[in-house]
Amino acid sequence: HAKRGGERRYAAFEPHMAQRSLAVLTMENDLRVAVARNEFELHLQPKVDAATQAVVGAEALIRWQHPQLGLVSPMQFIPLAEESGLIMPMGRWILREACRLMVQWRAQGIAPASISVNVSPRQFGDQGLLATVAQTLEETGLPPQCLDLEITETVMSGDVERVVATLEAIKAMGVSVSVDDFGTGYSSLNYLKTFPIDTLKIDQTFVRDLLASSGKDAAICSTIITLARNLGFSTVAEGVETAEHAAALRAMGCDMLQGYWISRPVPAEAFERFLRERAAPAARLPAAGVGG
Ligand code: C2E
Ligand code: MG
Ligand code: MG
Ligand code: MG
Repeated sequence: HAKRGGERRYAAFEPHMAQRSLAVLTMENDLRVAVARNEFELHLQPKVDAATQAVVGAEALIRWQHPQLGLVSPMQFIPLAEESGLIMPMGRWILREACRLMVQWRAQGIAPASISVNVSPRQFGDQGLLATVAQTLEETGLPPQCLDLEITETVMSGDVERVVATLEAIKAMGVSVSVDDFGTGYSSLNYLKTFPIDTLKIDQTFVRDLLASSGKDAAICSTIITLARNLGFSTVAEGVETAEHAAALRAMGCDMLQGYWISRPVPAEAFERFLRERAAPAARLPAAGVGG
C-alpha cells in the first residue's frame, strides 16, 4: 500500500502532470461557476440547400467567455462538462435557448426549417432526456418538427436496444436526428439499418481533403452520399470552406452544406441579420457561389 501510494504521489508531482491536473481542476471549478452564472452564449451556423443556397437549418454551438482566459473552445470544456456531469444542466440550457431563438425567428418570419442541437453521449444516455425535450418544446411552444438533435456515433455504440428505443421515442415526438461527424467513429453499417435516423453529417476531415489528388476523400464523400440516399437519409457536408468544395459536393448529390464558406458560427444578432439578407430575393442569387 505504502509503495503504491508513494508511486502515486511521485506521479502527481511530475511537473507537467501537476500543472495539467491543476488546470483541469481549475477549469472544472470555473465551469461550475459559469453554469451557475450562465456565462454561456449560443452561436449559430447556417446549413444551406446545396442547390439553391436557401438557409434550411441552423446549428447551435455553445461558446464560453471565460473571465480570464477569454473564449474557451467547446472542444476543451465539453469533455470536462461530460466528465463532471455539468453537461446535464448545461445541456438543458442549450436546448431551451436554441428553442427560444427558433421561436423568436419564426415570429419574425425569418426562421429556417429547423435548429440543430448537439447532444453529448452522457445526455443521450440520461433517462431524463425525453422528458427534457418534451418539456422544453412545450414551454417554448416550438413545433417538434423544428428541432433536430445531433448525436455522434459514440452514442450509438451503447446498448443497442436502449439506443433504438430512445431514438424511436424522439422520432415519435416529431423531432429529427442527425448523426454528427459521420465516418470518424464506430461506423458499423449495421446500425444504419437499425437506428431510425434522418440525416448523416459527413465529417469535416473528409471534406477538407475532398480535392486532394489521391481522390480518397472524394471517394469517401461520394460513397457516404450514395449510401445515405439509398437508405433514405439526407446528407449535410460539414466544414465546407471553399466554392470548389461546395461545387464538388453538390455534384455528388449532397443535400446540404455547412461551413465557413457560407458563414462561420456567429452570435444570434448576426445570424438574424444573415437570415434577413438571405431572405431578400435580390440577395439570394449573387450570394450563391456555386455555378449552375
Ligand atoms: P460539431 O458539432 O461537429 O461542430 C462543428 C465544428 O466545426 C464547430 O466547432 C464549428 O465551429 C466548426 N466548423 C464549422 N464550419 C467549419 C469550417 O468550414 N471549417 C472548420 N475548420 N471548422 C468549421 P466548435 O463550435 O468549436 O465545436 C466543436 C465541437 O464541440 C462540436 O463539433 C461539438 O461536438 C461540440 N459542441 C459545440 N457546441 C456544443 C453544444 O452546445 N453541446 C454539445 N454537447 N456539444 C457541443
Ligand atoms: Mg454538431
Ligand atoms: Mg460535426
Ligand atoms: Mg465535431
